[in-house]
Amino acid sequence: MQREWNEECAVVGIYGHDEASKLAYFCLHSLQHRGQEAAGISSSDGEKLYTIKDRGLVTRVFSEQKLAKLKGSAAIGHTRYSTAGDDSILDAQPVFARYDLGEMSIVHNGNLTNAKKVRQELINRGAIFQTFMDTENLIHLIAKSDEHKLEDRIVDAVKKLEGAYSLIFLSRTKMFAMRDAHGFRPLSLGRIGDGYVVASETCAFDLIGAKFIRDVEPGEMLIFEKEKALRSVKIFEPTPKHCIFEYVYFARPDSNVFGKNVYQMRKNMGYELAKERPIDADMVIPVPDGGVPAAIGYSQQSGIPFEMGIMRNHYIGRTFIEPTQEMRDLKVKMKLSPLQSMIEGKRIIVIDDSIVRGTTSRRIVRMLKEAGAAEVHMRISSPPTTDPCYYGVDTPDKEKLIAANMSVEEIAHFIEADSLAYLSNEGLLRSVGGDAHNYCTACFTGEYVVNPE
Ligand code: AMP
Repeated sequence: MQREWNEECAVVGIYGHDEASKLAYFCLHSLQHRGQEAAGISSSDGEKLYTIKDRGLVTRVFSEQKLAKLKGSAAIGHTRYSTAGDDSILDAQPVFARYDLGEMSIVHNGNLTNAKKVRQELINRGAIFQTFMDTENLIHLIAKSDEHKLEDRIVDAVKKLEGAYSLIFLSRTKMFAMRDAHGFRPLSLGRIGDGYVVASETCAFDLIGAKFIRDVEPGEMLIFEKEKALRSVKIFEPTPKHCIFEYVYFARPDSNVFGKNVYQMRKNMGYELAKERPIDADMVIPVPDGGVPAAIGYSQQSGIPFEMGIMRNHYIGRTFIEPTQEMRDLKVKMKLSPLQSMIEGKRIIVIDDSIVRGTTSRRIVRMLKEAGAAEVHMRISSPPTTDPCYYGVDTPDKEKLIAANMSVEEIAHFIEADSLAYLSNEGLLRSVGGDAHNYCTACFTGEYVVNPE
């Protein structure tokens, strides 16, 4: 199946606050780890919507002057994570449109699994598309709906969608926030002064001093309207299948996602990994930053000292988004360097959260051996990533996933490690509280909740 260009991302919405666009900006800043490709904000002053979006980091896209143009007491924002080859500004969000009921802007985190089919049907009915984004489908579905109120049109539109979506809509006077029935992607609700904030992760609330209220429920739509109490509409029966990879890699450790603290979940993965896959060594070191909490957990459980044996240069973007293999190799080198005096002659356990193509692990093992490590044992705090994600995490196609094509022993050989072991799927589920049926683990099991197109 052709994957759409809407993988991972962060969304935020502020309603009923004089500094709405500034607050949205700060929230996007704290959610930058979810997407570094493009950023945008739409605001409303009750009369008109204003939108600014561009490629690049949040700090590059916005300035004091630009934020001043985003007037009004409601704003929605987005940071985008993209895959190779699509770098058009057209694909940045929010997606703004004028239609028969007025103006609207939409931000979306997730990935629609039936986007191609819906798009083709819309094209057959005369719709013209400007981008490859799933979100544009929604605009057309809303514009073409026979319902008379935006609220009903949104309901009408989302009933035609399949897959993962955490969405925020802004009209001139209202804001709507909703999650798909499975709640694949996170979305939380908070209070700021007399207003509200909705964001992909709670770390955004901490930054702006908002108080967490609760998560938006799977299948629920929240409606924010001036001088009216917050309303909740149940659109779908909730059948939670939260993305377990949010805990493994994506979310920030200081966020509480799906009701649990991400740092603690990662530390638990380290405990479980140490129980399942012990090995004698002189120290446990993390691949920074992703592997840090699990390495602390592994060290505490095993009694083997934790050390920062690898330094990370924070001024380089994530390596994963680079399109060619050579660029990825080079960027790993630029990003991570060994602490030679610490490593020389030592038997080392290296903890990372996942192996995707194998590039990072291979480079790290080599780097540590070149720095004089006696043994390098790789331990991964999640199961082998064997299957692509169709619900919003950016994973390559199956043929590029090393664990889909090699056994663990073969991968160990490929990355040149003295040993390699992964956390089991059961161990992962134990780490996050054991309620297996609440999670989507398709990237590790190939068991898809919603079939990809
Ligand atoms: P690779 O070098 O392709 O094996 O990628 C593995 C590294 O990428 C690990 O250090 C992970 O922390 C990181 N990683 C895993 N999944 C993702 C993702 N969806 N986006 C960005 N980085 C990722």
